[in-house]
Amino acid sequence: MTLDVAIIGGGPAGAAAAISLRQLIPNGAIAIFDAGGSEQDAWRPGETLAPGAASILQSLGCWPAFRSAGFLESRGTRSVWGSPEPYENEFLFSMRGSGWRLDRARFNHLLRTCAGTAGAEIHYEAPLRGSEYADGLWHLQLSTSDCRARFVIDATGRSATFAVQAGAQRLADDKLAGVFVLFESAETGDTLIEAVEAGWWYSTTVPGNTAVVAFMTDTDLIREMQLNTPARWNELLAHSTPTRERLQNATAKTAPAIFAANSQSLSQMAGPGWVAAGDAAMTFDPLSSQGILKALRSGKLASFVAADYLLYGKASSAKYEVMARGEYAAYSATKAEYYSLEQRWPASPFWARRRSKP
Ligand SMILES: Cc1cc2nc3c(=O)[nH]c(=O)nc-3n(C[C@H](O)[C@H](O)[C@H](O)COP(=O)(O)OP(=O)(O)OC[C@H]3O[C@@H](n4cnc5c(N)ncnc54)[C@H](O)[C@@H]3O)c2cc1C
Repeated sequence: MTLDVAIIGGGPAGAAAAISLRQLIPNGAIAIFDAGGSEQDAWRPGETLAPGAASILQSLGCWPAFRSAGFLESRGTRSVWGSPEPYENEFLFSMRGSGWRLDRARFNHLLRTCAGTAGAEIHYEAPLRGSEYADGLWHLQLSTSDCRARFVIDATGRSATFAVQAGAQRLADDKLAGVFVLFESAETGDTLIEAVEAGWWYSTTVPGNTAVVAFMTDTDLIREMQLNTPARWNELLAHSTPTRERLQNATAKTAPAIFAANSQSLSQMAGPGWVAAGDAAMTFDPLSSQGILKALRSGKLASFVAADYLLYGKASSAKYEVMARGEYAAYSATKAEYYSLEQRWPASPFWARRRSKP
């Protein structure tokens, strides 16, 4: 089988790229290969969709399905950050307007269904094993079969599996990770962020009477504080203020689970016949709530690079890389500015690292 475009990874970036490619090249042979199964994804963090997603979902033709999915509208974030006084703000890093709190597995499934309806093939349980470029084609070894593709979009998320195989390096800016616990909770509040000495608390409610609660700090501090144990995680929670209060009537339904959440970018975001999109190209701090929107946008941009290459023999990857690097620089500056608002714990390693290294 020789594809026009093989998309490795079927998260928001991969699905957006596939839909957009089928719009740009209606007869194109486009396939997504995802490591996961065909059922809805297992739970994973990342449930706030920032304002601005409506227009891109409309352009991809997914808006009616999204509207009928019944996700919760979200007006912003309540923060205890920089002072003990809580304040309401709209989305921290983004434009005005409402966002949404998603059932993330259902959202991913919805996007992949749209990609399938648009005419992309979707292959599940098909992790990429290896790749080689020869005679103007990518030869891909997938666990299920081998295939050839004229162009590859790496949408494998923060592992950037294909790009790393092609020689790119993942450059991490920090060691942030989240220790997540899900609670059963009828509370329907918006997102709450609470800064404390060792990091910050994140909590929000999502469809299905579930509260998602995470303590965000650096991986070495997680180890030092043994936050992977329920006892230590609960002890830390007991020292928080509004986070603890909103969970008074809630019951934990999972053990603490750790997810990497560091900011990183690739040393090289494109090469001959390939481009990286979404988290594969760069990851954002969850504080920004921008990851999914950025993944949709960059999946769509990556589809333009692929279409330029296939339809016009034009290499627009250099332009793509300049734009992506500009976006990462702007994000990094906003992130540094936001972290520098918190000055209450000068001796805390977590906050000191963020002051000395923007
Ligand atoms: C703790 C945490 C909280 C977050 N909170 C938010 C939030 O509230 N709002 C927000 O907008 N963003 C949030 N994000 C970020 C957001 O989840 C990501 O930015 C977004 O999922 C990126 O989409 P993607 O399609 O690029 O990658 P992913 O969603 O990671 O999808 C990658 C896909 O590639 C597949 N894959 C991986 N390896 C292979 C392989 N070798 N072969 C084939 N397939 C493969 C995976 O199965 C997966 O389906 C958060 C992230 C973290 C870590």
